[in-house]
Amino acid sequence: MRDFSADHRWLSLNTATVRKQGSLLEIIEACARHGIRAIDPWRDQVAAVGIDRAARAIRDAGLDLTGYCRGGMFVADSALRTEVRDDNRRAVDEAKALGTSCIVLVAGGLPQFSRPGSAPSKNIEMAWSQVHDGIAEMLEYARAANMPLAIEPLHPAYAADRACVNTTKQALDLCDAIDPARSGMLGVALDVYHIWWDPDVMAQIPRAGKDRILAFHVCDWLVPTRDMLNDRGMMGDGVIDIKRVRAAVEAQGYAGYSEIEIFSNDWWGRSMDEVLRTCIERHKTVV
Ligand code: ZN
Repeated sequence: MRDFSADHRWLSLNTATVRKQGSLLEIIEACARHGIRAIDPWRDQVAAVGIDRAARAIRDAGLDLTGYCRGGMFVADSALRTEVRDDNRRAVDEAKALGTSCIVLVAGGLPQFSRPGSAPSKNIEMAWSQVHDGIAEMLEYARAANMPLAIEPLHPAYAADRACVNTTKQALDLCDAIDPARSGMLGVALDVYHIWWDPDVMAQIPRAGKDRILAFHVCDWLVPTRDMLNDRGMMGDGVIDIKRVRAAVEAQGYAGYSEIEIFSNDWWGRSMDEVLRTCIERHKTVV
């Protein structure tokens, strides 16, 4: 496993971590101040400053992109199916313009939450099948643009409202079904927050292998967790043995960035510089 203790060259910042503290342009400036070499921006943050300006700022700063958040939300009733397809195609176009390494896919849960306006449903099996079909359809478009797609399994607590893909096995089953040739265009984004609890994860990481591990995300699981979405912890403040998971991922040959992604009402209330200073310190000590 790589030694992160001496510097933070392999730290990437998911820009949601400081989304309340400033615009994407201000976040890019802050990364320059702190010597952070890579980010993973969100579509709303890019849209707020304009895609051309965002792309220029990223290029001028010499930043690597470890992903683009996010595509997916494939589950919808039939009236919204075309909108889902077109929205995901736009995500591919934007990702291409920005020059990112992959698009992170959050699958979607039940249709009324995945795509509001859809008729309510309790049929999770139908959601699974729509996710399969949605990824297969998006992959055709993404393949033409040479833009890899990374399925991010989410903790089962999010099965209803965000993603009905909840384990690494389930995400890899989708990869094998849709891209059996392992073309390099479909893989997984492994986030310790979502996978640390899974007794099967250490067997699934070798199954993914280097070619299917497209991104690696870190934060921590706080006990108690006070908000299901926005109470993620800073690395080291919770219960996840992050080094154990990173060691398994790197044993497969993963040599990319470790991306910090913290949705936290607590950390959103602190200054951008304090958050980034803490991220760097924890990246060196507990990641
Ligand atoms: Zn993540």
